[in-house]
Amino acid sequence: MISSISNHPQGPTAKTPRRNPTDGVSSSGVEAEAMSITDRPYLSWTQVSSYQQCPRAFAFRYVEHAEPDFVPSSLLFGSAMHEAFARVHECDMEGLPIPSSEELAGKVSNLLGASLLPVKYSKGESAETLHALGIRMVEAFLASPESKPEGQPVCIEDRASGSIDPQIPPIEGKVDFVRLTKDGLVLRDYKTARSKWNADKVEEGAPQLRLYATLLNEQLDGWRKITGLEFVTVTKAVKPVVTTHEVPMRRESVQACIDQIGQVWDGIRKSVFPTRPGWPCKTCPYASKCPAAIKPAGAFDEP
Ligand code: SF4
Repeated sequence: MISSISNHPQGPTAKTPRRNPTDGVSSSGVEAEAMSITDRPYLSWTQVSSYQQCPRAFAFRYVEHAEPDFVPSSLLFGSAMHEAFARVHECDMEGLPIPSSEELAGKVSNLLGASLLPVKYSKGESAETLHALGIRMVEAFLASPESKPEGQPVCIEDRASGSIDPQIPPIEGKVDFVRLTKDGLVLRDYKTARSKWNADKVEEGAPQLRLYATLLNEQLDGWRKITGLEFVTVTKAVKPVVTTHEVPMRRESVQACIDQIGQVWDGIRKSVFPTRPGWPCKTCPYASKCPAAIKPAGAFDEP
């Protein structure tokens, strides 16, 4: 966590229930059940997405704690970019000079070089090409209005957590950035993408933002409300493009998301972990352990 709403000088007071789901097993039955299956008393959004993509890969990672064969470069690259964007907002909040794009993108090389697992690169990629790409993306970000958006930063890389249904373990997710504008709080999520997002892609990712907004509103306990949601995408291109996509808040979408999480949780607690061969096999770090893995020659194209 770099900065949280609850730590903000104008943030919620002690009345705000900042429950940390990692503080130990609660008396709740679902939390204890989640703990017994995954060693965590909560479900993260990453876990839910992982199960939806391939339940078997979920089981390798979160239930059996199998050793992955490698770490995909895209995972480390995405983390480094998120840290770079967060650093820009943190400097803005603290009145510090913004580091150079070279310095901000330095995390790419650091993460790639420090990985304890072999790093799996895509075709034509290397640590050097990714470092150069990181610099281009940071430069594009710094040149865009999104590096200094309207309003006051109040939360950078914090966790949103809370209970959404008594039958489901508490949900936890990572919030990239929240700023306070004259109209209320705007919740932002950063995405590094191979190409520009269209409306379908935005709507595909929207449930995550709507769920996080619901969790944050609970945590804020009336201090302020999340009134705006947005994705900021930065393309991994020769000339990266920074785009803001506003996301409308839809209550029915939140309920649909909760229903989906409920189905995922039901599958997890009943040990329903079928293989789901497809394009994710290409970058699955458990493919060598999986009899259903589709080898690269026959792999599907990533959508
Ligand atoms: S190799 Fe494919 S089917 Fe097997 S666990 Fe990984 S993603 Fe699932």
